[in-house]
Amino acid sequence: MKIKDILNKDNLNREDLEYLMGIDSNEELDILYGKAYEVKEKNVGKKVYYRGLIEFSNICVKDCSYCGIRKSNKNTDHFMMTKEEILTSAKWIYENNYGSLVLQAGERQDKEFVEFVEDVVKEIKEMSQGKLGITLSLGEQTKETYERWHEAGAHRYLLRIETSNEDLYKTLHPEDVSHDFTTRVKSLGYLKEAGYQVGTGVMIGLPGQTTKDLVDDILFYEKYNIDMIGMGPYIIHDETPMGAEFKDMVLSKEERVKLGLKMIALTRIYLKDVNIAATTALQGLDPLGREKGLKAGANILMPVTTAAEHRAKYQLYNGKPCIDDTADQCKKCLAGRVGTVGDEIAYGEWGDSPHYFNRNKK
Ligand code: SAM
Repeated sequence: MKIKDILNKDNLNREDLEYLMGIDSNEELDILYGKAYEVKEKNVGKKVYYRGLIEFSNICVKDCSYCGIRKSNKNTDHFMMTKEEILTSAKWIYENNYGSLVLQAGERQDKEFVEFVEDVVKEIKEMSQGKLGITLSLGEQTKETYERWHEAGAHRYLLRIETSNEDLYKTLHPEDVSHDFTTRVKSLGYLKEAGYQVGTGVMIGLPGQTTKDLVDDILFYEKYNIDMIGMGPYIIHDETPMGAEFKDMVLSKEERVKLGLKMIALTRIYLKDVNIAATTALQGLDPLGREKGLKAGANILMPVTTAAEHRAKYQLYNGKPCIDDTADQCKKCLAGRVGTVGDEIAYGEWGDSPHYFNRNKK
């Protein structure tokens, strides 16, 4: 079987990745996921690390054509959590021993916002006596802002490239607020220079995206020496230009889940020591999506811990799961799910990306 020959090689090339992106039978997919799980066990272990996700504001200056909280969506019920509300969520994450949290929001670069984030990061560090690891996911910022937030105590940053195909990127992002591909790539460089563990990722199953694009995405992660990957299926949001235009033209749910799992498996097999998240969007399309993600090589989960009254307002796409749940309910539900995979939750650990340390040794 050709797939077994390829998977027995120590290092895959582009042609191998393209072949593996194309496999479709359940038998071959099981072999692929099995191999990815083996590579995960060998390189990052069977521990699953949590990052409690606090989505603290849906106010955004950008107008991404796929995203429910884009600037031009007039139906967004805008909110911004107060410092106290964020600290209450952070305290819950700390007391429940999640080890790390992610602060995510729509993008803003104004002075007030930059200072607000800096203060919040410092106060979370203080509240947890330095014990909570902090990841930020707040879009494109100046190098100085990235440095300030790093100095305040954040040590990981997620900035998805969304797609490594520059032409496709252009169709997704109006350039009116300097939202261009080069700035995005440059920002990844600034993050690395500022000392962060750097995460990126893409949406999978975008209209116009090919499997060759997806292979290029994996090669992009390699080229930019990325430490953490968070990628998931594209899901329509009705109140966006892309949602309206491509209603019937996106791949079926099953196809997007399958592609999402193949991307996780191939990224694990190809890059080996990076952290890979099984994202909420996977679960948005398949109730067992996150468990399947762990089985296909992911090792990170980002349980939503956003306060109940704000959850439904952070609606990036239709049918976002868990919006009626409390953080306590999510905790119980996830622990059961991880157990079914045979992985173990690493409570209280930061779970940094081994790739970050390996690349700094070289
Ligand atoms: N503003 C920050 C940024 O752009 O990095 C963080 C927030 S942004 C909402 C987080 C991620 O949500 C984006 O990187 C994008 O990949 C994802 N997202 C937005 N709309 C989506 C959709 N319709 N389907 C799947 N993922 C989506």
